[in-house]
Amino acid sequence: MAGFEFDDSVFDDISNELEHFEVDCPECENSFEISINDIGESVTCPHCGLEILIQSES
Ligand SMILES: [Zn+2]
Repeated sequence: MAGFEFDDSVFDDISNELEHFEVDCPECENSFEISINDIGESVTCPHCGLEILIQSES
């Protein structure tokens, strides 16, 4: 399983109402949309099927 860490600064521009945002797959480098609720969970890249753990650095 790969990990994807968010810099805290990413959230500076995100309002509490924004529930979806894009991440770049570390394997195939395609971007895809995840829910903010996926932070701390694992998601599967729709492009290559890699399982990615979404985690905040905070
Ligand atoms: Zn991928």
